[in-house]
Amino acid sequence: MKIHEYQAKELFREYGIPTASDIAVSTAEEAVRAAEKLGLPAVLKAQVHVGGRGKAGGIKLVETMDQVATTAEAILSMSIKGLPVRKLLVASAVNIKKEVYLSLLIDRGASKVVFIGCSEGGVEIEQTAKTSPEKILRFETPVSSLGALKEEECLPFARKLFPDAGQAGAAARIMAAMGRMFVERDCSLIEINPLVVDENGTVIALDAKVLLDDNALFRQPKNLELREEDPEETAARNGHLSFVRLDGEIGCMVNGAGLAMATMDIVKHFGGSPANFLDVGGSSDPKKVVDGFKLILEDKSVKVIFLNIFGGITRCDDIVKGILAAREQFDVRVPIVIRMAGTNEAEGRALLEGTDMMVADSLEEGAKTVVEIGKSR
Ligand code: GDP
Ligand code: MN
Repeated sequence: MKIHEYQAKELFREYGIPTASDIAVSTAEEAVRAAEKLGLPAVLKAQVHVGGRGKAGGIKLVETMDQVATTAEAILSMSIKGLPVRKLLVASAVNIKKEVYLSLLIDRGASKVVFIGCSEGGVEIEQTAKTSPEKILRFETPVSSLGALKEEECLPFARKLFPDAGQAGAAARIMAAMGRMFVERDCSLIEINPLVVDENGTVIALDAKVLLDDNALFRQPKNLELREEDPEETAARNGHLSFVRLDGEIGCMVNGAGLAMATMDIVKHFGGSPANFLDVGGSSDPKKVVDGFKLILEDKSVKVIFLNIFGGITRCDDIVKGILAAREQFDVRVPIVIRMAGTNEAEGRALLEGTDMMVADSLEEGAKTVVEIGKSR
């Protein structure tokens, strides 16, 4: 489960990890009042569940009250990677002297929990990992003692990031706190990018990305209270669909996560761009197809819908019944291309006869068709 930066920073403060003062708001007027309280300059930060907000224009430094009002208005009317900005964090601006990257995550490959550090923070860590992997530092800790990690144990690692002894000590304290928070709140990721040093030499978490383990929500009522999802995420969860909005033009509906990934790959391969990932699951429930259509159609950039169904336990004709029901309920304004194979394929095709939906004979043909349609509309 993703939480917003402002929520992650509240957790940080609970655990003694220093942050800049901030106030979360949802309107430009509230932003002005927050800035009056905090003082200027301030930084306005879009609260959305994606990274790279800075590059997308969702993070802005403001120096006058007029700027606060106009910039807050602008950011609150933005969408970042398809997600509308509903909240804004107003934070006291920090004069940055040094930026590093620090995170604590589960390394599934190594079956361990590991701190990742890099003395070049702020920028995209993935890029650094590719171009200069030697700059990425690792500190593995046994998960059994992570919650009781001592500052002294973190110090050698912290020193590699901060040559200054005082700053290294502060970073070691932050690492121990991250360990405690990770265990006590059932996190699967705590990422601080950047962790900065300000003009006074104070080490501050300037950004905060925290993932909470969904599988532990049953024993973490406090985590559940932090759930703030977009209406479409709630709808997908309630309908037991796996749905992720993307920024392309081809709506995809597929049964099975692996097939859904393969479908996105082949759409990309032929030059198209998926508008979403949607796995309607391996069952044969026409209602899921209807719910899936609703989610896809809410995205106005969708130009064509591609259904890719492999009939195993799923019966193709049940899926087609779902499609037909969806077309009765909603104004489906875009062409539909269906590729299906397997159980009850013939029955499914029979139901489609006489409709204007296109049936592709192969995955390749279907993908090419949707890409062409997507380009032409
Ligand atoms: P992200 O783009 O979603 O990772 O958002 P961040 O919170 O990491 O902000 C992106 C970048 O904006 C940071 O790496 C900083 O360089 C800059 N930034 C954010 N807050 C401040 C601030 O208070 N002062 C200054 N000078 N820069 C900031
Ligand atoms: Mn960041």
